[in-house]
Amino acid sequence: MASPPTPSSDLLRVLLPLPLGQPLSYLPPREGPLPAAGSLVRVPLGNREVLGVVWDGAAEPLPAGKQAKAILAVHEDVPLLEPALRRFVDWMADYTLNPPGAVLRMCLPMPDALIGPPPSRNVLDVAPQPPEMRLSPARQRVLAIAREQPGLSQADLAEAASVTPGVIRNLVELGALISRAVPAEKYRPEPDSSAVGPDLSDGQGEAAGRLVAAVAARDYSVTLLEGVTGAGKTEVYFEAVAEALRLGRQALVLIPEIALTQAWLDRFERRFAGQAWAWHSELSPGRRAETLRAIASGKARVVVGARSALFLPYADLGLIVVDEEHDASYKQEEGAIYNARDMAVVRGKHQGIPVMLASATPSLETLQNVKRGRYGHVPLPERHGGASMPDIAAIDMRKQPISRQRFISPALQTAITATLAQGEQAMLFLNRRGYAPLTLCGACGHRLQCPNCTAWLVEHRGKGRLQCHHCGFQARLPETCPACGEAVRFKPCGPGVERLAEEAAELFPEARVAVMASDTMTSARHIVELLERVARREVDILIGTQIVAKGHHFPLLTLVGVIDADLGLAGGDPRAAERTWQLLTQVAGRAGRAERPGRVLLQSFMPEHPVLAAMARGDAAGFLAAELDERRRAGMPPFGRLAALIVSGPDQAHVTQAGRELARTAPSAADLRVLGPAPAPLSFLRGRHRERLLLKAERGTDIPAVLREWLARSKLPSGVKLQVDVDPYSFL
Ligand code: ADP
Ligand code: ZN
Repeated sequence: MASPPTPSSDLLRVLLPLPLGQPLSYLPPREGPLPAAGSLVRVPLGNREVLGVVWDGAAEPLPAGKQAKAILAVHEDVPLLEPALRRFVDWMADYTLNPPGAVLRMCLPMPDALIGPPPSRNVLDVAPQPPEMRLSPARQRVLAIAREQPGLSQADLAEAASVTPGVIRNLVELGALISRAVPAEKYRPEPDSSAVGPDLSDGQGEAAGRLVAAVAARDYSVTLLEGVTGAGKTEVYFEAVAEALRLGRQALVLIPEIALTQAWLDRFERRFAGQAWAWHSELSPGRRAETLRAIASGKARVVVGARSALFLPYADLGLIVVDEEHDASYKQEEGAIYNARDMAVVRGKHQGIPVMLASATPSLETLQNVKRGRYGHVPLPERHGGASMPDIAAIDMRKQPISRQRFISPALQTAITATLAQGEQAMLFLNRRGYAPLTLCGACGHRLQCPNCTAWLVEHRGKGRLQCHHCGFQARLPETCPACGEAVRFKPCGPGVERLAEEAAELFPEARVAVMASDTMTSARHIVELLERVARREVDILIGTQIVAKGHHFPLLTLVGVIDADLGLAGGDPRAAERTWQLLTQVAGRAGRAERPGRVLLQSFMPEHPVLAAMARGDAAGFLAAELDERRRAGMPPFGRLAALIVSGPDQAHVTQAGRELARTAPSAADLRVLGPAPAPLSFLRGRHRERLLLKAERGTDIPAVLREWLARSKLPSGVKLQVDVDPYSFL
């Protein structure tokens, strides 16, 4: 006979960090008090045991005939996941149409790290020598070293004494060495909130005062800290961080590029005579676990990280700074799709803490929020120390005598020559990795294409490979053309940074040329080393992709040449002009940061384009006003709202069918429009066909509600995956 169902009032909801639709229902543990909401608990799931969090709200009754299982253990030593973070998880799941468990997983990326004692390692100390122990020369060596350097591990001691580990083990067994457990974590000096920063200028001091007041208010607010590159934004928001430290609270600083972390950490340590903690995808598992524990316990006072740092269970977060808030890399495009800048504002609201957005080129969304009075505005008008802004001019490539195989125009060449002659440095910016973006067969013109994507293969000559920048596919350059079978020379088409470096080396044989691109700079160490070489003036011409545009300081860099200022202006991206504007302004900001004035030359085939014309006039306000007007007319963000639906699958017919089904069930209302389905610009990606639909709505529309209702009415064929991208940034 089936036992009666458990009444749902006896059940607790437990959210598991897994992509499940809902929290699951469990009986309370058989012993001990009822765990509070937010407790970390161990529960059975199928034949596994998993960690989850006791969630708020009434549990669902179990289906008839199904017996509830009990919570196995409550981890009382782990701090509760606070209510503000639980509400944030629910909100974000709702907004991005992701299962709440998938969002919880972002908060607890390795829940096991939070339980149990912190990892320790064993070190060896010398004990009084036991009587009757035979002292071989090897043993004598070991004991002498252990006496001199107490606290070595077994392996280190064996190596230092050149003995086998067996010798050490014997000594431990005999009692001549004693093993002692010490924390595995390395010691980190805490930042000192009373450490004094540089003397701030009047303008900086006033700005810092406003940010400090926002932190001291212990309440939600959003402030845009706007100032040209070099104005001292970092110096100023450090004052807000200092205030959070004085209040005994934690501060989180998001930065857009992992590569910038080390430079940021070094600078922080100089300013605060103590260390901040980094969080990003490249931490080793051990370091990750250590950092997560330190964040949850409050030991990590200041955290700098990539977007994923936003979701962690801080013990007492008092401030979030989003540096370079306009940066598109805050948009997570895989898995749970979200914009970390926007989610930072939402988390700040749930936690009741201030959020600061720093940028020299704020996004139109943020500027519009300032205009509407939702965000405060703290401007920093000048460059620190009165360094002047660079002089910007366009080079009209239609009028430059230049061969198709060359990319540095005579005008730019002349400017580089003059710069080098003065002992100064030049930077050439080209947002294209590799040698050439396209490779052709010299006989039939066949273009080498990725087998998995609608994309050309990019030659990386340094590595001797062709690569797809979308799926990571790699191949050697073929011996014969796959189309005509001729054994030919393949022809590179267009420039990448490697090819540009080759040209620079030919034009300036005396100059020391270095390339900086994300694929050649595999570790943070590499980047720091190259940056130091540039700072020591061991590099004359630095060539780079957008990685050089962000945040670095090069005092002697006075000339920036943008090889293809038109790149990025084409295509169907509604933010193309804004992005190009931001990127070019950031790049231009690298020139002339110290006493020497800088110069920026933009190579373009359409210098009359509004973005480039405004750049050359130095007319930021004019460009932004025109761009906002354009967006208003088109009903685009920040005046309207967008959501993209992307259906994909290995079978083209199914994908087409799914697109049609979504169009058939599309919502119809006066304030809504659905565009598509249409093949995505990347219509084939990682072996999957792709179609897109775009929902366009008025600003006040509850987009997630519209989407949920729409999707509930649609039946997609099996094998087709649907991705929902609310507030899309990528239109590929
Ligand atoms: P931003 O973040 O706006 O680009 P930074 O804060 O990085 O500007 O400042 C640019 C440079 O000027 C840094 O080297 C910084 O240390 C220096 N700087 C800014 N403000 C001051 C100041 N008040 N005193 C001394 N140096 C300053
Ligand atoms: Zn590919």
